[in-house]
Amino acid sequence: MAATSLNAPNAPLLQKTHQTHVFLKPISTIPCQTSAKRFSISCSATTQDRLSVQSQSQDRVFNFAAGPATLPENVLLKAQSELYNWHGSGMSVMEMSHRGKDFRSIIEKAEADLRSLLNIPENYAVLFLQGGATTQFAAVPLNLCAPGDSVDYLVTGSWGDKAFKEAKKYCNPKVIWSGKSENYVRVPSFDGLELNPNAKYLHICANETIYGVEFKDYPVPCNPNGVLVADMSSNFCSKPVDVTKFGLIYAGAQKNVGPSGVCIVIVRKDLLGNAQEITPVMLDYKIHADNNSLYNTPPCYGIYMCGLVFEDLLKQGGLEEVEKKNHKKAGILYNAIDESKGFYRCPVEKSVRSMMNVPFTLEKSELEAEFLKEAEKEKMVQLKGHRSVGGMRASIYNAMPLAGVEKLVAFMKDFQAKHA
Ligand code: PMP
Repeated sequence: MAATSLNAPNAPLLQKTHQTHVFLKPISTIPCQTSAKRFSISCSATTQDRLSVQSQSQDRVFNFAAGPATLPENVLLKAQSELYNWHGSGMSVMEMSHRGKDFRSIIEKAEADLRSLLNIPENYAVLFLQGGATTQFAAVPLNLCAPGDSVDYLVTGSWGDKAFKEAKKYCNPKVIWSGKSENYVRVPSFDGLELNPNAKYLHICANETIYGVEFKDYPVPCNPNGVLVADMSSNFCSKPVDVTKFGLIYAGAQKNVGPSGVCIVIVRKDLLGNAQEITPVMLDYKIHADNNSLYNTPPCYGIYMCGLVFEDLLKQGGLEEVEKKNHKKAGILYNAIDESKGFYRCPVEKSVRSMMNVPFTLEKSELEAEFLKEAEKEKMVQLKGHRSVGGMRASIYNAMPLAGVEKLVAFMKDFQAKHA
């Protein structure tokens, strides 16, 4: 590529972009797709550049937050390189009309890439919505049933519980099983479940972000006309999923696939069109499906970011490969906990431990504050457990590198050696 022209009107800014962009990553992995028409950016780095690579990378922490959460570094860099002038359009994605051809190409590619990642069949609509997963707690019953209809909720954590409570306003939900009395440490055997034969849907939270309980297999509704509905907010795109087992999947983006502000809904098309009369237009899935998620102004930049993440996941080899990496990361962290002779403890039943959110406690709970402080000094942040459960929680979503988990494990062993 030609070197940046310093005579270009925006040269100083570009130089800056060039520096922060190029210097963050080893040269071979720098995305160089900057296709600005007015100038191009050199991707060759000097020795001095390499020094900057180190210092810039050191500025980033390992962020174990549950969401908003860490995003893939190369995605951030690509977004940075395209921020000011997307593909030579002369504007950033944030400034584009959502109805123009440029944004349409972005949302269409995001949808197509998500469809290939999850192998989503044509008879399912993919919607990019707002309002978070919390809004879907209401939208799901409003769209899938009439006011008096029965629906089942299998509650394995506080998100499932919140979804159930919201559904009470719009239909007749029943908790067919709750792990609350045991502090949400397991998923029940599906054989013994008392499913309602008339339930319009069975709702699960595929991965309970706070308690770290993840379904490894899925129950089947006993009503042949009923459907399985899953909140996949915190394990979306972390592994392959057979979408055809579900009538509807929803997921807030801010854990695995993008920034907050986007909520993705995947819904079987034959379920659309029966929303309750009181359904606000913004919660009516059919309206969004009929308008390709462009009924009103969508969260354009967030959708663009999700698109970059989907592209990145495909480049990694798709969700089979992503799952292997996640399995490895979770494995070494759970092993470290289990082999600590009780110094650390994860209360969740082994067979349903989450690959994404790893909650653990310290035997000596008085050391928790020090653990967090010391970890932060080592640039490992957001390890505090959710306020409702305490302890620690390491969220190790797709974008958490193996190096981050290895560093955490080494730190935990070291901390134990000092305090055992
Ligand atoms: N469901 C799950 C599993 C979650 O983890 C969260 C957020 N942490 C929500 C629902 C609520 O999502 P939002 O804040 O996007 O409404």
